[in-house]
Amino acid sequence: MKKHKIALIPGDGVGKEVIAQGVKVLYAASEKHGFELDFIDYPFGSGHYLKTGELVSEDSLAEIGKCDAIYLGALGDPRVKPGILEKGILLQLRFHFDQYVNLRPVKLLPNVYCPLKNKGPADIDFVVFRENTEDFYIGLGGNAKGKTHQNLELVRQMYKVKFGLDIETDAEEIAYQIGLVSRGGTERIIRYAYEYTKKSGKTKLASVDKANVLTSIYGFWRKTFEDMGAEYPGIKTESLFVDAVTMFFVMQPERFQSLVVPNMFGDIITDLGAAIQGGMGTAPSGNINPAGVSMFEPIHGSAPDIAGRGIANPIAAIWAGEMMVRSLGEGAAADSIMKALETVLAKNRIKTPDFGGASSTSDVGDAIADAVLKG
Ligand code: ATP
Repeated sequence: MKKHKIALIPGDGVGKEVIAQGVKVLYAASEKHGFELDFIDYPFGSGHYLKTGELVSEDSLAEIGKCDAIYLGALGDPRVKPGILEKGILLQLRFHFDQYVNLRPVKLLPNVYCPLKNKGPADIDFVVFRENTEDFYIGLGGNAKGKTHQNLELVRQMYKVKFGLDIETDAEEIAYQIGLVSRGGTERIIRYAYEYTKKSGKTKLASVDKANVLTSIYGFWRKTFEDMGAEYPGIKTESLFVDAVTMFFVMQPERFQSLVVPNMFGDIITDLGAAIQGGMGTAPSGNINPAGVSMFEPIHGSAPDIAGRGIANPIAAIWAGEMMVRSLGEGAAADSIMKALETVLAKNRIKTPDFGGASSTSDVGDAIADAVLKG
């Protein structure tokens, strides 16, 4: 029997509660579809950090590297300064395993509240591929103060040469951030988006940029996207400015089947995507290295305000589990999880308080696991 080894990092707050439901549903799918899941538990998160000072050890990274995938809950704790757990665990895993694709399905499921007027599940069903490693998030930037500072001099000279402007007098202090995209980094995400679009039988792929203002970075991105399009004659392409995309997400989400987006704009528009698909409890994500270890997680955080009360919505975590088994080649199991999710939501009886119901986190997990087994 085929076996998949999964590194399980439930993390903090509601992460633990929703991941338990995801595991329950994944076990049901593995039983139904004849494969084994071997979960290896890792304690990483705030509790472990506060007790031991450790975020993720080198040894654990090496061990996780031998797993087939990572299934993560959420990280965050009011007792820990913001950024420590995110940088030390989440980003560490993303960068260590070079998970350069952030895959975000934006799909409105039945009976999920959509804030857009007159839009339903038939209108909101697309996938966003966000580049996950470059752009303005490479951490290159700084602050400079005083006339003689080397960085400030450099920026002054750039201004002088480029715009003929002298910022001698009033720019005594500056902050700057540099964005960077590479040919390799741009090509691999765009290639992934074209291939995924083609394999999933979709016919349209849009690229998002701001090539009219940030011409160097996004002009390069746009040209790469358009050049590669010649290799995919069956896919209809369009290049859109990010400001237009935010309007289309709200006014005409049915326009999209798939979109490929540089890191920073991807960060922003995928949250808008989560909002139109019903909010925090419903949005899953995959951090993917197609040739390595990928990581799947709900996009929400640890939600300390509702943690420990058994009322967190496990839909996003269960859906992230669905994405994980699909990436492991268990397409039939993934289809049955998706169908079970839709069946339970369509019945509109078992739902957590954020969806207007009174069911617990584990009631929802039980109902979906049951639907997988009966499906
Ligand atoms: P963190 O610091 O870990 O990011 P946060 O509370 O700042 O946590 P989120 O957890 O992402 O941010 O979510 C914000 C709010 O959305 C939460 O306070 C909670 O009320 C709601 N929320 C998040 N996840 C869920 C969920 N799975 N089910 C129901 N409500 C949720």
